[in-house]
Amino acid sequence: MSTDTPGSQSSLHRANLERVLRAVRMAGSLTQAEIARGTGLSAATVSNIVRELKESGTVVVADTSSGGRRARSVSLSGDAGIVVGVDFGHTHLRVAVGNLAHRVLAEESEPLDVDVSAQQGFDLAERMVARLLEQAGFQADKVIGVGLGVPGPIDVETGALGSTAILPGWTGVTPGQELARRLGMPVHVDNDANLGALGELVWGAGRGLGDLAYIKVASGVGAGLVINGQIYRGPGGTAGEIGHIVLDEAGPVCRCGNRGCLETFVGSRYLLNLLNANHPGELTLGKVVQLAQQGDLGCRRVIADAGRQIGMGVATLCNLLNPRRVILGGDLAEAGELVLSPIRDSVARYAIPSAARQLSVVPGTLGGRAEVLGALALVMSEMGETGGL
Ligand SMILES: [Zn+2]
Repeated sequence: MSTDTPGSQSSLHRANLERVLRAVRMAGSLTQAEIARGTGLSAATVSNIVRELKESGTVVVADTSSGGRRARSVSLSGDAGIVVGVDFGHTHLRVAVGNLAHRVLAEESEPLDVDVSAQQGFDLAERMVARLLEQAGFQADKVIGVGLGVPGPIDVETGALGSTAILPGWTGVTPGQELARRLGMPVHVDNDANLGALGELVWGAGRGLGDLAYIKVASGVGAGLVINGQIYRGPGGTAGEIGHIVLDEAGPVCRCGNRGCLETFVGSRYLLNLLNANHPGELTLGKVVQLAQQGDLGCRRVIADAGRQIGMGVATLCNLLNPRRVILGGDLAEAGELVLSPIRDSVARYAIPSAARQLSVVPGTLGGRAEVLGALALVMSEMGETGGL
């Protein structure tokens, strides 16, 4: 080692160490060969770093096999710290406690009308976090960070909910600061579509991919974009607002002030309006999907048309970003092929063939858990940048 530049040597070493840790953190477990491939570091460097991390108790190394050959898998030690995920949906609050080895130790969901009052929501979040930590058998001081999901865009500079948020009871609230104050823990906050994308990337239908889009269709329509393994948020935090792509400039007025946005054709409120006249009783998107699967022609038609329109948005996204996979989440994803097949048809029709050819459109595999698991993954993905492990 050169003696005249000790600073640069050690900062290079730290950077390499952080790259290895980040790769392992996001994948859950990797062989040393996979770490070398993923980080671009040499096998010898990876081997040295893994040995160092093992000696400090940060990682555990186990024998495994890879492609029929013996290999050593590296994962973070389960004792290295605890992460907490909190997901505010429109009708529920879901909380999960996990460790850095990607094991979910406790998870629960409770009904919550999130629009009523932010304070009631935070009261419930505080109680659930305390209860689940106790269930998992950990004290609060073991928690490295909390990931918080909210159903609306977050302003990157102020941490407040953005202007298109559909949460009247949350006006003026900065959710991350409020939860951090109440729990006394560092909190990372993001919108539900970004967390759904992270959840599916780390635990679900996007595992092993570097480029994907997660499209959540519920009350609103949003996309979480993963580019080179990282969520792309844009400087203002509003990247991925696919719901506001204009399909018809003479269409219905949208909550964003524009007309004929994708959301005004496929957001749950608009879909339910189409069916209210001839479907008595209270309809929900879940009920519409169920009726469609039972053969209700009106519900099938509405879902197929929604798929076609979502596909137009996906085609635009595909032309711009050329993702390898589009993962559909939210209630509408439960309709399976009834919605996926029209999406694929639209993509084939409207996207540039070379962009569409490589694309697969699939349903998420995590269902309603995608966001809360994404909240756990958010803490893991932000750790290096906050000086943690
Ligand atoms: Zn709009």
